[in-house]
Amino acid sequence: MPTTLQPWVAAWIGLGSNQDDPQAQIQRAIEALKQLPDTHCLRVSGLYANPPFGPIPQPDYVNAVVGLLTRLTPRVLLGALQQIELAAGRNRSDSQRWGPRPLDLDLLTYGVRQIAEHGLKVPHPGIAERNFVLLPLLEVAPSLQIPGLPSIAHMASSVGRSGILRLG
Ligand code: AMP
Repeated sequence: MPTTLQPWVAAWIGLGSNQDDPQAQIQRAIEALKQLPDTHCLRVSGLYANPPFGPIPQPDYVNAVVGLLTRLTPRVLLGALQQIELAAGRNRSDSQRWGPRPLDLDLLTYGVRQIAEHGLKVPHPGIAERNFVLLPLLEVAPSLQIPGLPSIAHMASSVGRSGILRLG
């Protein structure tokens, strides 16, 4: 993996799994994030269980967020996330957008950058409506200011806690 050195930037990653032992998938993905080059892991949220989103019947999800300090560029970091997904057995050719998946990693934020490129949108466009992202962020990064969005506390109270359960 090429590593283009940049200034150190805080980046937040959203993790989700609902296949093949989701809790173990999330723990393995956290370990893989800790191993990324030019990157330190600063924060790991608890794990949260959630009912699935979208039209397809499927098992509950397990979600978490991880805060990194990284010198990888956003593109290189996204590529690294996709490698970790593939190693977990994710089939990217699967056309079911909302279908079950062993591992889904989203680049939620990258410092104060706002990126709208083909295949890379940062901050991730789903943050404001996803309580499974907002509640873990509220736990480990309550004062995080996401560019273009209200406070985490404000968004978390708007989406509510319906159906979500902190594990352990
Ligand atoms: P998903 O099915 O949720 O894993 O979506 C993956 C697709 O979303 C990939 O083609 C990525 O290039 C694209 N994408 C755009 N912005 C992001 C982001 N911030 N984090 C992760 N994937 C992203």
